[in-house]
Amino acid sequence: MQMDELYQEIILDHYRNPRHARTLGDGEALIDEENPTCGDHMKLNVRVEDGRVADIEIDCQGCAICSASASIMAEKMVGRTVEEARRFSAAFEEMMRGGPELSEDELGDLTALSGVREYPLRVKCATMPWHTLDGAFKKLGV
Ligand code: ZN
Repeated sequence: MQMDELYQEIILDHYRNPRHARTLGDGEALIDEENPTCGDHMKLNVRVEDGRVADIEIDCQGCAICSASASIMAEKMVGRTVEEARRFSAAFEEMMRGGPELSEDELGDLTALSGVREYPLRVKCATMPWHTLDGAFKKLGV
């Protein structure tokens, strides 16, 4: 199997079966974000306990890239400390904007999204969920 096909498979799997997907009403940390360039729209709620991400709930109406990024993010970040999640989120955003590359070990399924860097208009699709998570942390004051 070609790498491109493998990446395509990972993205489509998360798009079709998004992890931590819920229909969200209201929540303490609820953030509502839009990416008008693409038409992505997502809501996110995060629960933090003892400095750790206890749960992330996502309601994403977006393209495959945005949906996959949100799903992978939830899967990866639950269980981490807020500090780790913040650091990872910043490093990933930086990488997507042309900064230093993270290793495949660090990226996991996110490796599938690294090709998006070649399409500047789609970079926001991949980074928006991470942005949104940061916003939710801020809203919670953690
Ligand atoms: Zn998009």
